Amino acid sequence: MGKHVSRRNLLKLGTAAGLGSLAGCDQVAFPGLSRAEGPPQPAATDASELPATSASGFRYEVQRSDEDWRARLTEDEYTVLREGGTEPRNSSPLATETRNGTYACKGCELPIYSSSQKIILPQGWVFFRHSYENAVLTGIDSGQIEAHCRRCGSHLGHILSVQKQIVHCINGSALNFTPIGS
Ligand SMILES: [Zn+2]
Repeated sequence: MGKHVSRRNLLKLGTAAGLGSLAGCDQVAFPGLSRAEGPPQPAATDASELPATSASGFRYEVQRSDEDWRARLTEDEYTVLREGGTEPRNSSPLATETRNGTYACKGCELPIYSSSQKIILPQGWVFFRHSYENAVLTGIDSGQIEAHCRRCGSHLGHILSVQKQIVHCINGSALNFTPIGS
């Protein structure tokens, strides 16, 4: 994904982490602080051995230039969606949203989650049991399972265990909510 955490983001994430911690989502609050180099990858010396669907050949359906992303998103949204950042807990009104409706990716408007799968937990992010079918791609970064929009690749949040249930722990700033009937 080519994500990186700039010094500015490290400071921002550090501030968010200082707001307190609750069991379960602790690891989400400061992904940048524990980001370490992974094990060395074996060099692909023989390209013919790579499967046809290797990551090197994958392209997201929605592609935008960095300039375009920055024009579409606020600075905080850009940090979350394009740099893998995590918003401060309780910073999104969607965390406590209870109306019926659809949650779409802020990067491309692909419907990602239904309110029927939403659960409200006290950790202060937006939680869902499941996404819509074929909406989320996952990746592993520093031992965490990340949730990305399958259409534009934007980082949405993480999939982790909270209060003994596996949930999608999502940044509200990565989503646009449309209530049913609006
Ligand atoms: Zn998207």
